[in-house]
Amino acid sequence: MAKASTQKVEHPCQHCGKEIPNWRSNKKFCDEVCKFKFYNKKNRVVLDEDMKHIHGLLADNYEILKSLIGEERTVDVSYRALEEMKFDFQFVTQVIGSYHNIYTLSWLKLDNGLYRISRVPRKTYRGGYTIK
Ligand SMILES: [Zn+2]
Repeated sequence: MAKASTQKVEHPCQHCGKEIPNWRSNKKFCDEVCKFKFYNKKNRVVLDEDMKHIHGLLADNYEILKSLIGEERTVDVSYRALEEMKFDFQFVTQVIGSYHNIYTLSWLKLDNGLYRISRVPRKTYRGGYTIK
């Protein structure tokens, strides 16, 4: 928690510890941002060992796709290329039709047997997308 300066704090914010501007007896935070951060922190899920393991697998998969796509918008790679990098096809964060997303990247099996790696449009993971 951030500490306020040497100035005496009479009514500290529960999140940042600074004096609450325009304090009233029912105010516990500086503003909505501090309030949000405080409750967000309080309700944050603590990852257990299995969750950490799964997260690690997803992160590995994501790093593999990231290294293959580089700066491109899409790239087609062979099954072998993914297999050699120990890509684990079972771990994805979202499946939309034939697209298998891993966070912000996705893979799609093409008819020619290659795998197309592409960037997931932001709207598919930040709302605004409805699965039909
Ligand atoms: Zn605050």
